[in-house]
Amino acid sequence: MTTRPRYRCVPLFGPPGVGKGTQGKILSNIPGFFHLSVGDVFRSIDIGSANGREVYNHISRGELVPDELTIKIWRKALEAYVALSWFKPREDLLILDGMPRNVHQVEMIQEHLEIHRVIYLKCSDEEDMIHRIRRRAIRENRTDDANESIIRRRFDVYREVTAPVLQQYDPAIIHEVDANGSPSEVVHSILDCLIPVQNELFEANLREEESRGT
Ligand code: ADP
Repeated sequence: MTTRPRYRCVPLFGPPGVGKGTQGKILSNIPGFFHLSVGDVFRSIDIGSANGREVYNHISRGELVPDELTIKIWRKALEAYVALSWFKPREDLLILDGMPRNVHQVEMIQEHLEIHRVIYLKCSDEEDMIHRIRRRAIRENRTDDANESIIRRRFDVYREVTAPVLQQYDPAIIHEVDANGSPSEVVHSILDCLIPVQNELFEANLREEESRGT
């Protein structure tokens, strides 16, 4: 049996409303990065399908979607992007937004991904993030952002099951970013971390091509 190569990946980690999606979208405009948001994938599923209904039931209550279903849908989406060559695993670094979200997912994604760094977007002011989420609710018409008690539930879930994910990674690969900075300061700090990773990948590809004589 041939084993599939694992995709090179840097997860964007942090609480709801901290700006992972905004930063991911900015990075996706730079060649060599492919941004995938698990939340966006979930919101794009047809709500009339069985999977869509189940996903919606969890998201709209501020709960996590069950792990098996999450991984199944995420893998399908990722493979579709590979098939379309939107994500080119040999050249691109996968910027994964919203995964892993609990310790079990850390284990589940191991066979698929090679984690090079973890970007940890940090914001100490929960009220500020709730304010951002409320603005996003109006802009993006998101059902999970519409109601204060659902938003607060998402923060509880973050504290209880998502925050412990960070302890699963070597502190040396975790890059903390102050999410309170201006958008350009935040991008700058993220790129400080990602540029060396991208250069390493580029050089590794060059060496591989040279050894194959291409
Ligand atoms: P935010 O950045 O505000 O947390 P996301 O768009 O990342 O929002 O996610 C929206 C919702 O989608 C989450 O609250 C959760 O219900 C669901 N979700 C996203 N990623 C995952 C995941 N890896 N596992 C389980 N549920 C997820």
